[in-house]
Amino acid sequence: MILAARVLVDGSSGLEFDYSIPDRLVGKLQIGSRVRIPLRTRSATGTVNALNEISDAAPEAMHLREIVAVVGDHPVVTETLLRLGRWIADYYGASMESVMRCLLPEAVRADKHSAKESQQAILLREPKPADLDELARKAPRQASILRELAALGHPIAVVDLGQGARGSVQALVEKKWITIGIAEVERDPHGEEEYVANAMLALTREQAVAVEAVMAAVSQPSESKPILLYGVTGSGKTEIYLQTIQQTLDAGMSAIILVPEISLTPQTVERFKTRFAAIQKQVAVLHSGLSQGERFDEWHKIQRREARIVIGARSAIFAPLDKLGLIVVDEEHEHTYKQESPPRYHARDIAVLRAAMEPCAVLLGSATPSLESWNNHLQGKYDLCSLTQRIDDRSLPLIRIVDMRRESAGGGGDRGAPAIVSERLRSAVEKRLEKGEQTILFLNRRGFARSLLCPACGHVCECRHCSLPLTFHRGAERLICHICGFQQIAPRKCPKCADPAIRFAGYGTERVEEVLRKVFPQARLARVDADTMRKKNALRDTLNDFKRHKLDMLVGTQMIAKGLHFPSVTLVGILNADLGLYIPDFRAGERTFQLLTQVAGRAGRGEMEGEVFIQTFTPHSPSIQFARHHDFLGYADQELAFRRQFAYPPFTHAVLLTTKSTHERRAEFTLETLHKRLEKELPAGVLMGEPATSPLAKAAGQFRFQLMLRAPRARAITRHLQAVLGKMPLPEDVHLTVDVDPFSLS
Ligand code: ADP
Ligand code: ZN
Repeated sequence: MILAARVLVDGSSGLEFDYSIPDRLVGKLQIGSRVRIPLRTRSATGTVNALNEISDAAPEAMHLREIVAVVGDHPVVTETLLRLGRWIADYYGASMESVMRCLLPEAVRADKHSAKESQQAILLREPKPADLDELARKAPRQASILRELAALGHPIAVVDLGQGARGSVQALVEKKWITIGIAEVERDPHGEEEYVANAMLALTREQAVAVEAVMAAVSQPSESKPILLYGVTGSGKTEIYLQTIQQTLDAGMSAIILVPEISLTPQTVERFKTRFAAIQKQVAVLHSGLSQGERFDEWHKIQRREARIVIGARSAIFAPLDKLGLIVVDEEHEHTYKQESPPRYHARDIAVLRAAMEPCAVLLGSATPSLESWNNHLQGKYDLCSLTQRIDDRSLPLIRIVDMRRESAGGGGDRGAPAIVSERLRSAVEKRLEKGEQTILFLNRRGFARSLLCPACGHVCECRHCSLPLTFHRGAERLICHICGFQQIAPRKCPKCADPAIRFAGYGTERVEEVLRKVFPQARLARVDADTMRKKNALRDTLNDFKRHKLDMLVGTQMIAKGLHFPSVTLVGILNADLGLYIPDFRAGERTFQLLTQVAGRAGRGEMEGEVFIQTFTPHSPSIQFARHHDFLGYADQELAFRRQFAYPPFTHAVLLTTKSTHERRAEFTLETLHKRLEKELPAGVLMGEPATSPLAKAAGQFRFQLMLRAPRARAITRHLQAVLGKMPLPEDVHLTVDVDPFSLS
């Protein structure tokens, strides 16, 4: 018998080969180990994903080549993670190579990286301005590196100086400006703040029940279900995460906490860091904002078993922690958990799966659970813990609906165009300004898809088959349904009340800021959106200014809807609740309900009561009505009934096919051909629409067409699709994407 290792080769789009294990390496390598191997005429790296015994007599035993070396001290992926990876590749139809890129970030994979990483550029003497000027004339790159080092005041990894910096670094070494060393520099992604541990709070009765349920699952993971923590905003969910993680650590196990997006949830992350400040070295933070060097450090902290808590955005679900006891998914309904490039996995779903494989406990928390999770609770697959009260019995804010159909254009809108600020909201803001209280105005950012909504009567053009808004395609003057492919000529007037205003476009954040400055000239206000917050720390600085009361008002997009806690905000206004509501997406209503609830949750978090105004042209809409009454249960009931009736998720799984090409006809034709082939022998229970232009009809020079399929099981669709695609080569200039359980339908 020969002991052989099956190795998944890096950068090979999923090739696997068997290698024999030489005596000197026996016992030094296990599943998940990184190894150096010969591949044809070169040397390559890969990951061991199986160990087999092969009989000496077997023909393949003759040809086995030997593993050259084991890289690193510990396996970088666990056996469970490899199993999880295979599942992801299969379910989402992704290559194993793309999955491995999630399991092993680039910084960790390149084993040469570690050596490079420790190379630090260290400044030997302070350059004077004159020195820098002189250097800049002859060697601008050297000057900029020197300037950066002087400004930083500490050494920096050579790799972090950017591409092609090596030559300049070498020159600077020769000129004795700097030296290269293996300086032990703590790269600290935690920032400069000092964290002082904050004490555990005495739990409320509801919190205590939840903590007990979670800890029961931590100690008996194979006998427990995932736990859905449904708690209204401000009910103390975060405190439950903190205490259950503490107890998991005390029991000798590790924990992962997923947050939607670190840069958007600074306050939540801060609370974790402060609580665990005493064991800061055991906390690793993973997110997309890290430099390669920082990412490398954080991963190695995990691999060396130093880190026992990992906080991170979606990719942190792959953190190779051992003795994993608990996974927490905060704001489990958030769309950022879905990765929008291959593999298009959903981190919440992967968390549940990983928990079952480990096994460990998994806690999904939200004030507005996704209907997927809620339905899993209704079907008995998840256990439910509820927090029905805000802490200290603070009341939920009073929500008022402003019917914008009745508003004159006097609120700052142009003649004929819809008003931006209603009279009622304007006077409410005035009152806050007089009393020195704070206001947040929220703009429900629209996608590119535009529906036709009549500002005079609130009518929305919908598909009669699918009960979803039709999308207006301006060039073609058509309305298209992106679920079933139904098309019609776009009307020039409202079909219900004949008002031509149905064709007017809306407004963006910039326009809103302009109007607000005019309406409230005395207010100190800041706009928060992707454009104004591009600079590093801009969001954090603005939020700090707001907290210190240097600002009266924030106006912004989704960015300010999440997890923020400002005690002196007493007024929240939602300027245009409809914008996100009438898009061609069966989750549009759900997302709007979530947003309104989350945004409303920003008000009245302090001693003072909060008030919320929702401006809308469609006050009758269920998402708005249920949000107004803080009625998640009522909303979920009626929305689930709608989804069931029209066979939308969570009652089916959707698969979205998109063809993209610079040749419009070819993208369209390819999808039509695929559609025809899929139609033949379409498995029972699979619903397929017609191919149609995407809501985003053209992006990055590529025309886009899409086709949606739905079925009770996603695999019924993907199996059929694979069989058809296997026999149908795609034209080279057409790119097909397959999105299983898509979140964004464009
Ligand atoms: P959620 O995460 O549900 O929105 P938080 O965890 O942010 O709620 O709690 C809201 C506020 O109540 C926070 O300021 C938090 O410190 C405080 N809080 C939470 N639990 C308790 C408790 N048991 N006793 C006192 N204050 C608490
Ligand atoms: Zn339709």
